[in-house]
Amino acid sequence: MRIDSLRLVNFRNYAQQEVCFSDGVNLVCGENAQGKTNLLEAVFLLTGSRSWRAARKSELVSFGQQQAMVSADVFSRSREFALRLGFSCGGRSSAQVNGVRLKSPGLLSETLRCVLFSPEDLQLLRGAPEKRRRFLDTALCQLRPRYAQCLAQYQKVLEGKTSILRKSAERPDMLALLPEFDERLVTLGACLMEYRARFCALLAPVCSDIYSDIASGREHLTVRYQTVSSVSDPGADRKTLERELSEHLASHRQAEMRLLQCLSGVHKDDLVLEIDGRACRAFASQGQTRSAALALKFAERELFFRDSGEYPVLLLDDVLSELDARRQAYVVGHMPGGQAIITCCEDTGRFSGCRCIAVAGGRIL
Ligand code: ATP
Ligand code: MG
Repeated sequence: MRIDSLRLVNFRNYAQQEVCFSDGVNLVCGENAQGKTNLLEAVFLLTGSRSWRAARKSELVSFGQQQAMVSADVFSRSREFALRLGFSCGGRSSAQVNGVRLKSPGLLSETLRCVLFSPEDLQLLRGAPEKRRRFLDTALCQLRPRYAQCLAQYQKVLEGKTSILRKSAERPDMLALLPEFDERLVTLGACLMEYRARFCALLAPVCSDIYSDIASGREHLTVRYQTVSSVSDPGADRKTLERELSEHLASHRQAEMRLLQCLSGVHKDDLVLEIDGRACRAFASQGQTRSAALALKFAERELFFRDSGEYPVLLLDDVLSELDARRQAYVVGHMPGGQAIITCCEDTGRFSGCRCIAVAGGRIL
């Protein structure tokens, strides 16, 4: 999968611009506030996902303009595609593939997929479990549509249960519905757990190997899926998971009724990351944090490749800062068989074999 060319009209600080990318590593370089991240954001939007940093579509449209357009020529599934995404200040957007309008921009993901690393992803290591759960969920939703359905159903049932618990202060009769909701949470929860455990079993060794390479074998990263305490082995069969999860929910029911909130379940799952046996969240340095977040993203890309036979486009925003020269060389030099677009402020002269794209003031030089 690769992007051959990208065109922007009234997008952020770009009035009208075309840029060509090569297969392999593309380094987008320039000083601060010139338009490097804006370029990555435009590519990312063509995957049908929402921008990771814009609260509203109107923020994407150049100041003083009403409409913006991003389009690209993409090579995917052994074919050429022309993708086009337009959006207005009013928040409307429309997407096309090869001139045919899509029902929803989200369907662009069938043609273009990206793995993005942005500075916000450092929260994968430092932030609350929710960040790591979202990483798992996003990766699994892309790989397995059945997982996405199961997750949506689980969230709906969980909202229902939360609402019953809240209302039960005034309507205690509603508590009679709880066992039924817990039963659904057990079935759906065990399904999510099975997918997550399988994914993590594949992710962990790949991630460890990549981290060892980044750190030149000096440190060892381990990744482990952590779910509710009553489940002794998340890799167990579905029936065992359901039984253990059911016991777990039952053991929390009294406390949930007392506090009027859902306390435990797979919606609290986490990924535990340790470097040389110490929790990254508490002990990792800046460079280690960045390297471990990168290893997770590179591993996600690798698993996607194993699943589909194609590497998603890798977008790395501001990844090189805080990495020493050895780790930087690994990131830029170790990208076998896929396309990467990497933004950086530094002098790129020492990275050979990459295409350099210089950006200044919303223009490609
Ligand atoms: P840094 O190295 O600091 O991360 P960058 O090159 O990645 O810089 P961008 O985030 O791409 O910078 O932003 C470039 C410029 O685009 C900024 O000055 C920003 O204010 C401007 N900008 C953002 N949104 C819009 C918009 N809707 N219209 C016009 N300009 C915008
Ligand atoms: Mg930037």
